[in-house]
Amino acid sequence: MTFKHLSEYFSKLEKTSLRNQMTEILASLFHEAERGEIGKLCYLLQGRVAPLFTAVEFGMADKMVIRAIVQGLFVDGGKVVSVFKSEGDLGNAVQKLKLSESGKRKEDKELGIVEVYDVLYQIATSNGTGSQEKKINLLGDLLKYSDPLSAKYIVRMTLAKLRLGFSDMTILDALSWMLTSSKSLRAEIEKAYNVRPDLGYIGSTIKTKGIKGLSHVIPMVGTPIMMARAERMTTGIDIIEKVGKCAVEPKYDGFRLQVHFDGKNVSLISRNLENVTAMYPDIVEGVKKQIKAKKTIFEGEAIGINVETGEYLPFQETVQRKRKYDIEAKAKEIPLKLFAFDCLFADGEEYLYKPYLMRRKKLEQLVEKGDTIYVAHKEIVADPKRLEEIFQDAVTRGLEGVMAKKLDGTYRAGARDFNWIKYKRSYAGKLSDTIDAVVMGYDLGQGKRSSFGIGDFLIGIYDKKKENYLTVAKIGTGLTDIEWQELQVRSQKLRTKVKPENYDVDKAMSCDVWMKPEIVVEIRADEITRSPVHTAGRVMGPSKSGSALEVKVAGFALRFPRLERFRGDKKPEDATNLSELETMYDLQIGNK
Ligand code: ATP
Repeated sequence: MTFKHLSEYFSKLEKTSLRNQMTEILASLFHEAERGEIGKLCYLLQGRVAPLFTAVEFGMADKMVIRAIVQGLFVDGGKVVSVFKSEGDLGNAVQKLKLSESGKRKEDKELGIVEVYDVLYQIATSNGTGSQEKKINLLGDLLKYSDPLSAKYIVRMTLAKLRLGFSDMTILDALSWMLTSSKSLRAEIEKAYNVRPDLGYIGSTIKTKGIKGLSHVIPMVGTPIMMARAERMTTGIDIIEKVGKCAVEPKYDGFRLQVHFDGKNVSLISRNLENVTAMYPDIVEGVKKQIKAKKTIFEGEAIGINVETGEYLPFQETVQRKRKYDIEAKAKEIPLKLFAFDCLFADGEEYLYKPYLMRRKKLEQLVEKGDTIYVAHKEIVADPKRLEEIFQDAVTRGLEGVMAKKLDGTYRAGARDFNWIKYKRSYAGKLSDTIDAVVMGYDLGQGKRSSFGIGDFLIGIYDKKKENYLTVAKIGTGLTDIEWQELQVRSQKLRTKVKPENYDVDKAMSCDVWMKPEIVVEIRADEITRSPVHTAGRVMGPSKSGSALEVKVAGFALRFPRLERFRGDKKPEDATNLSELETMYDLQIGNK
């Protein structure tokens, strides 16, 4: 396939915001692609040359790209800058220049997508001395030979600005559509994607082997596995009734790490699949010293320790280790311990499809005694009374509560289910847990808060089915001055001119400023109540007169919401979702 043809697809995709239409356009593109092309195509569609979880980035700013355009199109720098100014986008500018008389040259070639991909890959992976010049030369050459439309998209990609407006999930739908003209295989494909969230791998496996190729995907060291999550319950009796005899582990209140170790190199992956290896040199050393496997993937919770007393530190202190600067000094001040709780892969064998007890046995074999990595404590329990005792003991020791794990439960990558159950101390209160919400917009501040430029901010949860955000509260209290500032600084980059299309907001909750969904905040509230002005769980129906829609079932709203912390380790789609909120509401009613 030529890159020009792919660019025509980019154009079509850009023109629609309807998911179903995008799915069909993508499916037809995948249909046309050759076996050797589809993997690369999947990355190009994300404006990349490698999976999202890798650190391969183009690293090119406007200035560098302008130099490449000057070089490739033989045009004057001033001219490029003035067209850029009038177009407001360098992609449009290069296309316009190529179409203009001075930019029209005979060099345009029919470049194939693999050919373009290979050059883009070289651009993204050049580093070290002289790499800036190399990137400019490579891009310049590419622009010289590409047609105007291709040039537009190549430039946007190198600037990391190719935003076609669909998620990985739409690509999975489209792969299903390619095979069946329906989304019927989406769940099966997603299951494989959760074990290897590398669209290139998923796309080329389907193209070459069909859906059968994805029936038993083995994890790969270096490719993060989407993390399994836990359901909530509020008493020992309920837990034993649900899963029977189970393993009870302490619930450490730190942050989760997925460790990938190939015998030499260690990668540490955060909850939202970011590579955070550089932040935690003490854990990297610990893994190298204490792990007895050539290749392994395991998970644990990292928690800070008070060097004088040896006690666990509260989350607020542990989280100070999440930083880009002064890493070594902070590591001395707040050393981390990693409590390993699961083994997903070891020495060529997958473990995630094996039952908990087997995974746990392997984990115990993996970890040698040392002072950084410990295997999480566990006790097998059949008696609810004993479960309550362990829970109380954990809370007394300052832990968050316990995790109960089903003995024959597998590791359900990317899924939240009852194979793991969290039983937290906050369940004793009215509202069973905190909520992770997305900041959707804000009103301009009044009074003291006007100095931060932000007054109340609107938060919402995620509806997985509709892939949109639904509101639950506006918050104006509970933030420290530093948190207000952080919110203000971060919101600058996320402002949008109009309300994003996937926001469902009642008029009464409209905001002065809208923001892209990116910031996730953990919110504590007294209670979940029902309110007609919030859209989470709200049901609308025709009014009696039939002329307009009216509220048939009020939405969920938070009573006295306050910010607990920013959740930099969560993506907006990881926010509490509608069905979880419904469950929390039911649990709360049960508690009452
Ligand atoms: P979730 O991960 O369920 O979306 P969350 O990140 O808000 O939610 P919690 O609801 O507090 O976290 O509980 C799950 C988290 O508990 C895990 O992601 C992990 O970081 C942590 N955890 C602590 N101890 C354990 C343990 N023994 N086993 C599994 N997870 C544990």
